[in-house]
Order: sequence, then structure tokens, then C-alpha cells
Amino acid sequence: MSKEINCDRRRFLGTAVNDHGSMHPREYTARRNSRASRFCLAVLIVASTCMGVTGAYAQSSAPSSEQGVEGEPYPLMPAIAPIGVRIGKYMDVPPSAQGPAIDPAKGYRLQGLGSGLYMITDNAYQSMFLVYDRGVVVIDAPPGYAAHIPQAIAEVSDKPITHIVYSHSHIDHIGGAKVLGGHPVIIAQEETLRLLKRAADPNRPLPTVTFSDKYTLRAGNQALELSYHGNAHEPGNIFIHAPSQRVLMVVDVVFPGWMPWRRFALAQDIPAYFAQVEEIRKMDWDTLVGGHVARTGTHADVDLQAEFNRDVKQAAATALATTKPGEGLNPLDKANPWAAFDNYIDRVAAQCVNTLTPKWSTKLAGFDVYVWDQCYAMEQSLRIE
Ligand SMILES: [Zn+2]
Repeated sequence: MSKEINCDRRRFLGTAVNDHGSMHPREYTARRNSRASRFCLAVLIVASTCMGVTGAYAQSSAPSSEQGVEGEPYPLMPAIAPIGVRIGKYMDVPPSAQGPAIDPAKGYRLQGLGSGLYMITDNAYQSMFLVYDRGVVVIDAPPGYAAHIPQAIAEVSDKPITHIVYSHSHIDHIGGAKVLGGHPVIIAQEETLRLLKRAADPNRPLPTVTFSDKYTLRAGNQALELSYHGNAHEPGNIFIHAPSQRVLMVVDVVFPGWMPWRRFALAQDIPAYFAQVEEIRKMDWDTLVGGHVARTGTHADVDLQAEFNRDVKQAAATALATTKPGEGLNPLDKANPWAAFDNYIDRVAAQCVNTLTPKWSTKLAGFDVYVWDQCYAMEQSLRIE
């Protein structure tokens, strides 16, 4: 069940160059594709046979021990298909990663977090609002359901939206701010203002109040403590703490029950991203709102994510140290440093995936979806950051 990896067209490059090094590029491309197609057809047959047995063309965890001859995978290639390969059926999402269902007629779910604080979610995104005696503070406005935010507020309050807090500048978390209407005070870290000025997006109105390190928003009898812990996911991404509700919201860092989104949720600074997970772990709170997935998080979720981070770092470091550069590289590619590195890093990532799979493939939802991405991001971070 590991043959699907041969459909990655890059794997065929070495084959064609080896056989037809002096060939005209167009002819070479055609032959490469036809060879790839034949191989993939064979793979499809193998896969279909497996489907007949298992009911689905599912990811599995046993590596292939085939040697890396022409057009064949690297030695010990993981069965979890690498980036760019189509998957018939990803691994199942374990119950631990699932949350309460969304009412399809409403399109969102409202979850009380205590003392006037609520989470709104469509089970993919999460935002919050805080009700105080004269109004409502909205925290983030994901465009997918922002139009429902007033309706969600109306379920529990008839007060107007007076403030919006932006967790960070990314459009997928605040791109619905404009549809909330009115002229609310908009609060964000100063880096978020800089990035939003550059974006010049009418759907993301500029913050009217900014801060550098810390800002306490007092609204009636309610309070939110905003703090900036430096660039990790992106500059300006803040921690939002509701002390009396014992809730911490940090977006795009911890994904309760799940692997982080690809490449550590696109963290711009991976060592700082790891450090922020540790910081969140040590803070005093009961409920974590991570901005994504179907449920809120606990300290056990953050512990698990921190453990995964340590394991992927160790796996990538070991793979970097024990993988021999140039092994199995076509001699005709020796003068191409990009190709030599591609070959080396592919084998590093494959070893990293093999190391992590036995322990983690059933612990975090989406392991098979993003483990290659995490390994590639990790080896790169270790080499250059
Ligand atoms: Zn983001």
C-alpha cells in the first residue's frame, strides 16, 4: 500500500534524465509523463485491490523497504503519502478531536464560557464575544460566519457592539469585521495596524486603539487582558485573557485534538512558536480558545501539542544528523546543488515521518494530512533558524 508515492512526478525526473540525458526537453517531458502514467495506472490497480479489502484507499503506517532504483521511491519510504499526492481516504478523525455538532439551519454554535463570555464556532473557526452592562466586545470576526455574529449575540443580549478586538491581522480570522457595521472601537497590537495598513482591505477596518506589550480593556464590570509575546505565528498575534472566566484565547498556535495546520500553522518563527506553546502551557487558565477546530482546549491538549513539538524536533534533528547527503543521487545531478539538497531533505523528511508515525498517527487528528509538512518545516528551521 505504499506504491501511491510513485505518482509524485518529481520521482520520475531522475529516471528520465538517467536514460535520456541529452534528449530534447519537450520529448523528455512527454516520455516522463507517459512513464509516470503507466506506473500510476499500475499503482491504481494495486490501490483498487487494497480498497476491495479494506473498503477504502486508506493511509497506513508501514514503510516500504524498496530500494531507490530508477523511478522507485527512496528506501524505507513512509506509507503515509508525501505532499502533492492525492489520497483516496485520509485516516479517520478520532472522537477526541470532535466537538458538538453545528445546527445546519443556524450555521454556527454558541458556547457559554461563563460570566457573559461566549465562543461562536462553525466547528472550523472560533471567535468570542463578551457581554457587559452597556454593550458587547467582539473578539475576531471570521468571514465564514461573521454575518451570524449579531444573531448569536441576540440569543443572549440586546446590547450593541461597542468594541472589536483583533487577535491578529489574518483575513480568515477578522475579514468579517466590516459586516458587523457601526463604528466600534477596534483594538489590536501595533504590528497588526502596520500589516492592515499594508493590506488596505476594506473588509478589515484599521484598529483605532493599538498597544505595544499589554493592554487591559475594561468594559463595565468585565475585563480582557491583551498581551503581546512577540512574533511566532505572525507579528501582532496576541494572547487574550479573560481573568474572571479563566479563559485564554490564542489563535493559530494550539489546535485541540489536532495536528497544527501545515508547517506549524505557517508559523513565521518556529522556535518562537514552540516557545509560545510552552508559555501557554505554564499560564493559569481553564479553557483555551484556539481560533480553530470543533472544541475548546484543555491543559492536556496543550501538553500533548508540546510533546509532539519536542518529538518532531528530535526526529528531524536525528534525521539531519544521520542521513548521508548525496546517497542515491544521480551522478548527472552532482553539479546541481538544488537537486542534491532536494534529494537529501526528502530523505531527512521521510526518516522524520517514519520516526513519528508509530507513536503519533492515532493521537492527533490529521496526523497523516500534515506530518510531512511538519517534518519539512522542522528540518528547515533546525538548519537555518
Ligand atoms: Zn493566522
